Amino acid sequence: MNVPSHDQGSDLYSWTIEGLKLQHFSSSKTWSVIRERQPAHPWFQAVWFKGHTPKHAFNMWVAVQDRLPIRTRLVSWGMLIPTSCCLCSVSDETRDHLFVDCPYIKILWGLMLRKLSGSLISFTSWTQLLGWSSSDSTTSPRTLRSIAVQATIYHTWTERNNRVYRSQTLSASDLFRLVDRTIRNTISARKTRKEFKNLMVLWLI
Ligand SMILES: [Zn+2]
Repeated sequence: MNVPSHDQGSDLYSWTIEGLKLQHFSSSKTWSVIRERQPAHPWFQAVWFKGHTPKHAFNMWVAVQDRLPIRTRLVSWGMLIPTSCCLCSVSDETRDHLFVDCPYIKILWGLMLRKLSGSLISFTSWTQLLGWSSSDSTTSPRTLRSIAVQATIYHTWTERNNRVYRSQTLSASDLFRLVDRTIRNTISARKTRKEFKNLMVLWLI
C-alpha cells in the first residue's frame, strides 16, 4: 500500500457485505452475516409475533422452554419445598399442569375460548395450546389468539407468585377480568397497526 498522501485524493471507505457494496453501514445486515444461524423453532410464531407485549412474550419464551422456576423443578434442584400446585393444591406443579391441566387455568381457557368462539372446551396438552395460538380463523386471527394466550399465561404465573410470596389470592373469574383488561389495552395501544385492525371488535363480540 502506498503511503497516504493528499496528492492521491481524499480517503474513501465503504461497507461490503457478501460482495455487495452498501450505501450506509447496516448493523442488522452485519449481524445477520456474522451470527451463527439456527433453524426457526416451531413455537417461534407463538412467542415473537408482531405487536407482542415484551414482558408477556419473554415470560412465554421461558415457559415454552420449560425454564420457569416451577415447584417440581425447584425440588429437582434439591430445595425442600412441597411439590403441590400453588393454584389447586391437588396435583404436582409442573409447567403442563399449571398452564393446561389445572382446574384453575381450565376456567380461564374456557372463558377465553368462549369469547373467541372456539369449539374447544379447553386445551388437552401444551403442544395443542401452542398450535392453537399459532393458527388462524376469521373470528379469531392469530394475533388475537397469541395476545390472549400470552396475557393469560403471564397473569396466571403472576397469580401463582402472588399466592406464594404475598399471600394474595384472586379467583379465576377475577383474574380473567384482569386478562380481559390487559387484552383490551394491548389492542387499543396498537390500533393503528395493520395486524390489530378489527381485533377489538372480535374480542368484544
Ligand atoms: Zn393446579
